[in-house]
Amino acid sequence: MEKIRMKTPLVEMDGDEMTRVIWKWIKEILIEPYVDLKTEYYDLGLVRRNETDDRVTVESAEAALKYGVAVKCATITPNAARVKEYDLKEMWKSPNGTIRAIMDGTVFRAPILVKGIEPYIPTWKAPITIARHAYGDVYKNSEMKVPEGAKAELVVTDRDGRETRQLIHSFDTSPGIVQGIHNLDASIASFARCAFRYAVDTKQTLWFAAKDTISKTYDHRFKDIWAEIYENEYKAQFEQLGIEYFYTLIDDAVARVVRSEGGFIWACKNYDGDVMSDMLATAYGSLAMMTSVLVSPTGAYEYEAAHGTVQRHYYKYLNGEETSTNSVATIYAWTGAFRKRGEFDGIPELCAFADRLEKACVRTIEDGIMTGDLYLLSKLPDKRKVSTREFLKAVAERM
Ligand code: NAP
Ligand code: MG
Repeated sequence: MEKIRMKTPLVEMDGDEMTRVIWKWIKEILIEPYVDLKTEYYDLGLVRRNETDDRVTVESAEAALKYGVAVKCATITPNAARVKEYDLKEMWKSPNGTIRAIMDGTVFRAPILVKGIEPYIPTWKAPITIARHAYGDVYKNSEMKVPEGAKAELVVTDRDGRETRQLIHSFDTSPGIVQGIHNLDASIASFARCAFRYAVDTKQTLWFAAKDTISKTYDHRFKDIWAEIYENEYKAQFEQLGIEYFYTLIDDAVARVVRSEGGFIWACKNYDGDVMSDMLATAYGSLAMMTSVLVSPTGAYEYEAAHGTVQRHYYKYLNGEETSTNSVATIYAWTGAFRKRGEFDGIPELCAFADRLEKACVRTIEDGIMTGDLYLLSKLPDKRKVSTREFLKAVAERM
């Protein structure tokens, strides 16, 4: 068989621990035999980030914007323990945070569905994709304790020094707490454009929900910006594709999601997205089956698995023990990137390869061959737990 030729390279962002091991095996067993792989390689493993004072992360994100498609392995976000373990010069920031800030992107997460692993909500037949706004609100807050007898105010000082004040609360009878949060029109607009573009791309209906009845200025601003961008830039395309955009209150959205059959995109403000994506991941079955893609408002894509570096399994691997780590979400990061690269460069064989590889993963699991995490969940009568490498080989056989 002749290998599939690529035109533009993928931006390849390597990572850490067990997922770094799996990364290499996926390439060796499932990609390189079939594709004449072209990548621009960036090593985001913690050792290399430390050596380059984290410049490699910045450069990889810039390359993602330049080439338009990147695929990323999970990476360690350093904490105090990691600073010691890797003898770091500094507690480097989360690579995902750095990449997201440079690409100004929105993260979309969708579960991979397979027979035998049934969602906890029986009506869910298709994946629900969560789009989470990744800037501001409570994640960039300022908060204080307030003593009894004090008064808290919002003060905005304009460019010329003029102040606008509004009372938050007079703490006459009890001490308490206050919190200041913000967002930016530009960031809300980027978020909206990423979501509308992704809905068009994947031909799915898009929901957006906030709490504008209670938050009449803050949340209402989100609703208005989204409505304006939809009307002016996307309405015609949506109508042509027969998909819908609708806004509803967050509590109504939650109720509708539970009653739904899935198969749509649910855009959430930052905090709602944080909470609801964990709820959806669990309700669909396993974090190891959750895909993730960061989409920039200019149309650049960075694909990855939603899970981390699976540290516990890595230490077993280092001890020479066989692990049973699920590689499916990492494989889907590669297939997502190949499919998008194939679309951009007009290489239908690359898109077809992505489809075939995904189907082979699903077939393998539905044939009862699976890693330990899924073995615990699967309702299939004949199931077998296999090692990380055995799983990859079983997928290759089905390709
Ligand atoms: P994690 O790597 O997602 O793993 C948490 C647990 O979930 C694992 O111990 C394992 O459970 C299970 N699990 C996750 N992925 C799995 C897979 N593919 N196959 C089988 N089981 C899987 O999260 P963490 O342990 O909290 O974080 C480890 C490191 O990853 C941290 O340094 C963190 O900074 C980093 N991280 C990176 C990203 C990213 O790059 N996007 C995201 C999250 C975390 P059992 O041990 O019970 O088998
Ligand atoms: Mg969360």
